[in-house]
Amino acid sequence: MKVLVPVKRVIDYNVKARVKADQTGIELANVKMSMNPFDEISVEEALRLREAGIAEEVVAVSIGEQKCQETIRTALAMGADRGIHVLHDGETEPLAVAKILRALAEKEEPKVIILGKQAIDDDCNQTGQMLAALLGWGQATFISRLEIAGDTVSATREVDGGLQNIELALPVILTTDLRLNEPRYASLPNIMKAKRKPIDQYTPEDLEVDPAPRLRVLRVVEPPGREAGVKVETVTELVDKLRNDAKVI
Ligand code: AMP
Repeated sequence: MKVLVPVKRVIDYNVKARVKADQTGIELANVKMSMNPFDEISVEEALRLREAGIAEEVVAVSIGEQKCQETIRTALAMGADRGIHVLHDGETEPLAVAKILRALAEKEEPKVIILGKQAIDDDCNQTGQMLAALLGWGQATFISRLEIAGDTVSATREVDGGLQNIELALPVILTTDLRLNEPRYASLPNIMKAKRKPIDQYTPEDLEVDPAPRLRVLRVVEPPGREAGVKVETVTELVDKLRNDAKVI
């Protein structure tokens, strides 16, 4: 069984994002970029499936500029077997990414595709769900537990208000939540080995997908600064402030 793991190159989670002076987007020049943290969890889960003898091959896929190959190399250094890079300069919106992944799924015929629940740059939380709809496969999103036995997938989903256990049949789309696992670090020998692992390259046109954005960003602005809080002496004062100042009760 083959597992496909889409990995997105995003602004590193430790970097404080700054809005560009012309308000057209976020400043990315000379900013540290890394693999989307949820995608590290996906790679880890795919590797565990291979180590458990359930999967035979783990393929990392990234869509975007040439530098996305660094993100694929990170997945290869963690242990993925090979990479696929779909070269596209410019915005990658979830629908275009989902269409590209559908084309790759038809080519590669994986039984499992593991995505992150969301990319921390756009916070869309859409790609996995769109891909499941396009392929007509079952989906388990926001998973914190996964078991695969034969053709049956059993997963626990983190939903508002608790945990939901579901069972579904292969092939499936999974999206990972934080508690699923702790991703491993790449060891130095594996970083060296990763340099020799193959990365195939396509363009969206090769896959007959039009990646043109469907959304137009009008303006990006900093959120308003937070105002200082105040301490109240009594519950009565708190209720009074909630009622008359904040007007929330
Ligand atoms: P989003 O729907 O944008 O929040 O992204 C959810 C997940 O889709 C990510 O965690 C990745 O697994 C995958 N994904 C989104 N964009 C890309 C991309 N350009 N390349 C590879 N994977 C992506």
